[in-house]
Amino acid sequence: MSYTPHSMIPLSDNYIDEADVRAVSSVVKSGWFTEGEKVSEFQSAFAKYVGTKHAIAVNSCTSALHLALAAVNIKDGDKVIVPSLSFVATANCVLYQHAKPVFAEIDPKTYCMDPNDVQEKIDTKTKAIIPVHFAGHPANMKPLMELAEDYHLKVIADCAHAVGALYKSNKIGSLGDVGCFSFFSNKNMTTGEGGMITTNADEIARKVSLMKSHGMSKSQWEKYQQTSWRYDVIALGFNFRMNEMQAALGITQLEKLDHMNELRMRNASRYTRLLKNKYIVTPYVMKDVKHVFYLYVIRLAEQVRASRDQVVEKLKHMNIYAGVHYPPIHLFSFYRNKFGCQEGELPVTEEISKRVISLPMHQKLSDEEIDYVAKELIELIC
Ligand SMILES: *Cc1c(COP(=O)(O)O)cnc(C)c1O
Repeated sequence: MSYTPHSMIPLSDNYIDEADVRAVSSVVKSGWFTEGEKVSEFQSAFAKYVGTKHAIAVNSCTSALHLALAAVNIKDGDKVIVPSLSFVATANCVLYQHAKPVFAEIDPKTYCMDPNDVQEKIDTKTKAIIPVHFAGHPANMKPLMELAEDYHLKVIADCAHAVGALYKSNKIGSLGDVGCFSFFSNKNMTTGEGGMITTNADEIARKVSLMKSHGMSKSQWEKYQQTSWRYDVIALGFNFRMNEMQAALGITQLEKLDHMNELRMRNASRYTRLLKNKYIVTPYVMKDVKHVFYLYVIRLAEQVRASRDQVVEKLKHMNIYAGVHYPPIHLFSFYRNKFGCQEGELPVTEEISKRVISLPMHQKLSDEEIDYVAKELIELIC
């Protein structure tokens, strides 16, 4: 066991093969780059995969969340409940609609939104909740959907970590009103930058399709196909379109998504096997879910003396790139200044956030690398 890496083991990586390269270059050669046949093919394939009536491609998950909230009429004066242990886009999208994000605690096992705390935080202004399927583990959707039904809330799922994950045999993105996906470079499948909105509601799909392209009554593709130049603008929209190169990559990436997720799950179980000891809390997986391990997040147990930040720093010296997901959103300067958020508001989130470390996790990790990371981590903290 004298393996040492020659270069940094990255925290994340993508998985690009010849089929991906061929798909993108054929679009480049075709000369038609903006939203067209490839986007529409990707949308159909994605809707079929997730099991929803509609899938609408956009340029990022941030845009997807923004449009989803707009489409369910979130507006000034409304409140939307979000977890604080997430990427900042989960909360920022609420502000784009001039509504107020209200932060809820997480379940200390799954690190996903805690339904009991959500219930505590609902008031008459609450209009929606945004559960995040943290690290690839599905949020506990059943109690969340029951709350949504009782209090007439919309459920917009932030599925950025969890494409391909299952909750009680339902694909993530098929539960609730809307699912929002990310195809950013380090996600489980990528289009470089990109996103997708999934929904069964015709009205939401119609609004989102309109708003992603300037509120125009015709898409770019229709304008090109038809000889008439005429179109109307019927709503205030944005330019949130996905392009053809991205969609071509999305199609070939989706074809191997299950395989890529299998590789992640296999790597995760190797880590878990090697790291089981009293100093490390390995990822918990709920019964009846498929966790697709966008991230492999461990937590330092209470008896660990070394500071988390020192451990992350020392791992870097051993050529291991570790990360922290996430610093709580409510404690960022912007949120402190805007809403007066303070330490102590979300004790579970804050405590967990101080002790988590994301270890390198991607499809191309070798057994040797996993063994090396596990060995070095154990040496540092035990
Ligand atoms: C990556 C991510 C996003 C944003 O995705 P983009 O496609 O980069 O806009 C949103 N929410 C979560 C939880 C994420 O991890």
